[in-house]
Amino acid sequence: MKLKTEILLVFLIVGACLTIGTGVLYFYNARQIILEAASNQLESLSATKKHRLESIIYKKQEELRLVQSRLFQAEYLYQYNVFGQLSDTVAQSDRRLITKNIKKLTHDIESFKNIHVLNKEGIVIASTDSGSIHFNFSYFDFVQKALKLENSIYPIIDYKTDDIYLCLAGPIYYKQKLQGALLIETTTADLATLTGDYTGLGNTGETTIGQLLADTVACFITPTRNKECKFEKVFLNKIEPQSIFLALAGNEKLFLNVLDYNHKRVAASCRYIAATQWGIVTKIDMDELMAPAEALKWMSIRIGLGALFFLFLVSMILASSIVKPINKISEVARKVSQGDWSQQVRIHSNNELGDLAVSFNRMTKSLIEAQENLELKIEELDKSNVSLEKFAFVVSHDLRSPLNSVLGIAELLGTGNMGSLNDDGLQMLKLMQNKIEHMKGMIAGILEFARLNHQLPTHEVVDLELLIARLKSLDCGNVAIEVAQELPPLNMNTVVAEQLFQNLWSNAVKYNKSEQKKIVFSAYQSENDTVYSVTDNGIGIGVSHFDTIFEIFHTVGPKGSDSTGIGLAIVKKIVESYGGKIWIKSQLGEGSTFFFTLPYAQVNSTIKQVLQTY
Ligand code: ADP
Repeated sequence: MKLKTEILLVFLIVGACLTIGTGVLYFYNARQIILEAASNQLESLSATKKHRLESIIYKKQEELRLVQSRLFQAEYLYQYNVFGQLSDTVAQSDRRLITKNIKKLTHDIESFKNIHVLNKEGIVIASTDSGSIHFNFSYFDFVQKALKLENSIYPIIDYKTDDIYLCLAGPIYYKQKLQGALLIETTTADLATLTGDYTGLGNTGETTIGQLLADTVACFITPTRNKECKFEKVFLNKIEPQSIFLALAGNEKLFLNVLDYNHKRVAASCRYIAATQWGIVTKIDMDELMAPAEALKWMSIRIGLGALFFLFLVSMILASSIVKPINKISEVARKVSQGDWSQQVRIHSNNELGDLAVSFNRMTKSLIEAQENLELKIEELDKSNVSLEKFAFVVSHDLRSPLNSVLGIAELLGTGNMGSLNDDGLQMLKLMQNKIEHMKGMIAGILEFARLNHQLPTHEVVDLELLIARLKSLDCGNVAIEVAQELPPLNMNTVVAEQLFQNLWSNAVKYNKSEQKKIVFSAYQSENDTVYSVTDNGIGIGVSHFDTIFEIFHTVGPKGSDSTGIGLAIVKKIVESYGGKIWIKSQLGEGSTFFFTLPYAQVNSTIKQVLQTY
């Protein structure tokens, strides 16, 4: 992965983690605050509504007590009870008086719809609604309560008109005795005003007041906000009770995410009015309650995305500003590595990258200086090599002619033309001739070795088998030459290749005392190279000489032998100049094998045939 991408990724991952982490934390905190604020508002509204409802109930109870306290009415009822049994006329007159009285009351108090006066049996004896006379109310709970001296308020549903109204029921006393009961039908207008006030309740919120009709049925006393009908019945969902049943069960707290009568999920603040056994619920749909949190969520997401995009831009700029100078340096380094040392990095910042650029420029400068020095040294070395070669050539040439003269003189001495020598003298002369020949050999070897220094390795296809065939043709006495298997052609200078093989071949013959001398040429493919080998059945070499044998002038065996110690040094130099290496395996008296790696040529069979014809 590129450095710029890496930096970008690190910035983005860290940035994204921070943004998302902070965003989520912020969102959940804010959501909690919003939820708490909304819940508190709902709770305080609910408390206010309960308070107002209690005031209305209190007012209605006061009105009931007011009517109950009308003494003359109680008196008429007493008379009706006592004397009405004596004559119908009296009864009729009392009933008229009571009716007149209650009619006046319905005029005085606006919320009163009808007033019924019941005898002790619960039968209407006087009413503002003449149609209700003689109606038996004794089966109603609230009438039973009234006849047992208890005041109560109870909703009555008029199924004909689908109207709901409140019935205020209570006993009538006279002379400290129960004379009958009073039923006042009042409208629910003031309750409807209370529940119809949606202030602070948004688009879906409302207040509902409910009363149990049976164990699993409740009805709303006032119209609901949906206004599907004037009153509404709710049947208890036993698995998950609706909010009004929670209030009717006496709960006085906030419920979140509860079921409502209209099957929606709501936040409902429940209250219970013990005096009337009513439940009052102030609630709002969860969707609406959570709307600000939901809006906040989307806003947070948008801000987060914006922040990420901004982060991406900043990361890009930062990554570029970091990577650009590095790229500059690496580009210059690439050019320098290709040999263009004149390149300089141009970064003028005061930071670490600027320091790096300065150091880099300093380094290339010193490299240039070192290179110049090196070139100078090479030039000097070349010059000295050339003069050395010249020197070797001149020396060897100049030494050769006096040596040849000495040899000539020695020969003359040997023929006896210059005076006869005795046997000892002749032996000494022979020894001297041998030494001069050895010296000539050494001088020739030095010249050859020195020349190799200056020869650059050249390449051509050398048919090795042909080369060995030529070696075979040299008459060296009893020598059997074998080629172990097909030898791959070499890729090197032919003359140099001959020089190499000839040296090894002549050593194999020279340092061999076997009756039947044997030389085996072979090649095999190792892991990376082709390894050639020359094996003989000669005198062998001790392990202690394995490393030193390739050094110039290093010889093995008795002093005074005709070995110059140059042949293997030349072989090593040739192998190494072609990038190869040479080593030996040998055992004294058992023969030696010289291994070396050399470049080989890929030649197809046709070319090989052509090569062999030459
Ligand atoms: P020279 O050119 O005089 O033969 P070399 O450098 O070729 O000298 O050899 C160095 C020494 O290594 C020789 O003196 C010889 O004793 C030993 N040597 C080289 N080749 C062989 C061989 N094939 N078997 C045994 N000894 C060898």
